Amino acid sequence: TRSKAAPTPKPWIEAIHAYVPGKSKGKDGRPLIKLSANENPLGTSEAALAAKAAAPALYPDPDSTALRTAIGARHGIDPARVVMGTGSDELLNLAAQGYAGLGDEVIYVRYGFSVYDIAARRCGATPVVAPDADYGTDVDALLALVTDRTRVVFVANPNNPTGSYLPKGDIARLHAALPSDVLLVLDQAYGEYVAPEDDDGALALAAAHDNVLVTRTFSKIFGLAGERIGWGTGAPGIVATLNRIRGPFNVSSTGQAMAEAALADADFVEASRVHNRDERDRFVAKLEALGNHGLRPLPSQANFVLTLFEGALSAEAAFEGLADRGYIVRWLPGQGLPQALRITIGKSADMDAIAAALREMAEAAK
Ligand code: PMP
Repeated sequence: TRSKAAPTPKPWIEAIHAYVPGKSKGKDGRPLIKLSANENPLGTSEAALAAKAAAPALYPDPDSTALRTAIGARHGIDPARVVMGTGSDELLNLAAQGYAGLGDEVIYVRYGFSVYDIAARRCGATPVVAPDADYGTDVDALLALVTDRTRVVFVANPNNPTGSYLPKGDIARLHAALPSDVLLVLDQAYGEYVAPEDDDGALALAAAHDNVLVTRTFSKIFGLAGERIGWGTGAPGIVATLNRIRGPFNVSSTGQAMAEAALADADFVEASRVHNRDERDRFVAKLEALGNHGLRPLPSQANFVLTLFEGALSAEAAFEGLADRGYIVRWLPGQGLPQALRITIGKSADMDAIAAALREMAEAAK
């Protein structure tokens, strides 16, 4: 006879710490200006919003054919080599599930994107965390951890939450040194924010090799985070693997229609990139001027800046002080960064207000 015990989750599932999203309400339930989730402060392309109204409510195209065709045309990729996900999160999870399991190892860098840990653990694989190099990805430290059991390596470029970026040469060196049966996942959720001349060559690697998956998203520069649309590209074998295990209707009809329209609105994307670049430069310069108070903004190629608080003003106190002034940013003690705040680049006036508030708090702190 069976026992009366409740179902037991798998031990590797119980070891997972659930993803903790940023808050969007203040202490007394007041709405805050949310600069904690790396969303686009310019909103969403008007063309995409118009497409939403026209989308049918029946089952979507299970293969997102028109959208994959548009993505392929935009990037010069055969649409057969594009796979869609419910956000790029789904694709990261599918990559781990497709290529790693119990007894296998998945490598990512300390302060890498937090979903890699969940993706590795939920298929029973062992996460292996490479030491960082001043909050950036250290290619040699990562390569030193490769063993016979390594199946997947995750690198976000630019990385979240640090904003760090590996140039093309480092990405090529990493790929060249990895065994050919290790899947290298290059997560480019923030790829469109990188200046074209700083391209890391990830898409070209995915086109040329059998062991590279590049993932991108419509959540960031395209302003469609709520629709949950990501895409990946790699060799036909990789695309086939992910297609085998993805949800059959994993991108909604509205999502497909909006993403296609957003992709076509090149002006909106370019305006978003330029706004981000200019505001990020201005914001970083203001924080660098607070270096004597121990504030250290890290260089960022993304739409956010991670700032270390190494003086009298703590990151936690700054987080609370900004919340009191109506701004919610990301404090990351759960990711081993209690000394840091990640602040999304927002509208100009908000970035000015935040920089002024940090100055005020830093000068008052003892
Ligand atoms: N990769 C990185 C590095 C991210 O920061 C994010 C968003 N937080 C994602 C992937 C996933 O984004 P989405 O699922 O919305 O595509």
